[in-house]
Amino acid sequence: MSVPEVRNVIIIGSGPAGLTAGIYAARANLKPLCFEGFNAGGLIPGGQLMFTTEVENYPGFIEPITGPELMGRFRGQAEHQGCELITQDVEKVDFSSRPFKVWSDGQLYLAKTIVLSTGARANYIGLENEEKLKNRGVSACAVCDGPLFKGKRVTVVGGGDTAMEEASYLAGLCPEVMLVHRRDDFRASKTMQDRVRANPKIKLMLSSAVVDVFDVSQNKVTGVAIKNLKTGEVVRHDTEGLFVAIGHTPLTDIVKDQLELHPNGYVKVQPGTTSTSVPGVFASGDVQDWVYRQAITAAGTGCMAALEAERWLVAHDGH
Ligand code: NAP
Repeated sequence: MSVPEVRNVIIIGSGPAGLTAGIYAARANLKPLCFEGFNAGGLIPGGQLMFTTEVENYPGFIEPITGPELMGRFRGQAEHQGCELITQDVEKVDFSSRPFKVWSDGQLYLAKTIVLSTGARANYIGLENEEKLKNRGVSACAVCDGPLFKGKRVTVVGGGDTAMEEASYLAGLCPEVMLVHRRDDFRASKTMQDRVRANPKIKLMLSSAVVDVFDVSQNKVTGVAIKNLKTGEVVRHDTEGLFVAIGHTPLTDIVKDQLELHPNGYVKVQPGTTSTSVPGVFASGDVQDWVYRQAITAAGTGCMAALEAERWLVAHDGH
C-alpha cells in the first residue's frame, strides 16, 4: 500500500471556524484539506448555523441572511481560495507522533498540522415535539434568534449562566419571559441570578420541567406543558418561543484521549492562542469556547488557527 501524501494542514469541521481556517490556510498556499463532516456524532457540514434561520448579527450583511446561505458562502469562498473539502466524517485521529494521522472512511491521511474545529452541539430536552418545532419557535440561542421574538411571550429552560443570560437578553425584547428550571436552586453565578430575580419581566417556575411543546399542527410554538416536579401537576403555559439553555456538548469524541481538555470537556488552548496541548495541533471555534459561541468569534479563532499553523510550519518545517 502506498504511503499517503503528508498534507501541510488538515482541518476537521466546516463551521465558521473550520472554513475560515480553510480560507486563510489556502491563501497562505498551504493547500489545506478540510473534512467537513457528514453528520456522525453531530459534526455536520456548515456546523450549528445550518440549524438557524435568519442571521442578523454577522457583520457585513445589512439584510438578514439565513444560516445555511451564510455557510454556503463561507464554503464557496474556502473552495474558491483552494481549500479541498471532503464531505466525510473523521473516525479516528492519532496525534501521538508526527506526521499526525487522521482516518476517514477507513482511509489514512497524514498532516504536519491540524486545525480542530468540530464545534459543540446544543443540548435539547429530548421531547418529540421540541425536535419537530426546532427553528419554528424552539431555539437554543437567544442572541441568534431572540430578535425574531420581539414583543412576544417566551420561555427559557435552564438554571446555569446561559439560561440567566438568555432570559435577561430576551427580557430586553419581550414583554414576558418565563424561566423554567428543574431545581429550586440555580447553578448560575450569584450576580447573574440577582439580575434575573430583579427583572420584573422575568417570571420563575422552579422545580419544574417542560414536558411537551405545542403546536406541531400549526407548525409553530403556541405553548408548553410545564410539570411541577414536586406535586406532579402539569399546566399549559402560552408562549411563542422556547429557548432551551441546558448546556452544550463539545464534539471531542475523536480527540478526548489525545488532547488536554478542561473539566467541562472543552479543548484546552493556551490563552490568547489556539495552541492545544499537542504542538502543531490547533483548536478553533466552539470546541474550545463555551463563553462567546458566536459565528464571528468562531471565524476569528479559525483565522488565528490558520495563521498559527502557518507560523508553526515555518518554524518547524521550513515551509
Ligand atoms: P451549565 O452551567 O451546565 O448549566 C446547564 C443548566 O441546565 C443547569 O442548570 C442544569 O440543571 C440544566 N439542565 C441540564 N440538563 C437538563 C435537562 N435535561 N433538563 C432540564 N434542565 C437541564 O451550562 P451553561 O449555562 O450553558 O454554562 C456553561 C458554562 O459556560 C458554565 O461554566 C458557565 O459559567 C459559562 N457561561 C458563562 C457566561 C458568562 O460568564 N457570561 C455565560 C454563559 C455561560 P441543574 O442545575 O439541575 O444541573
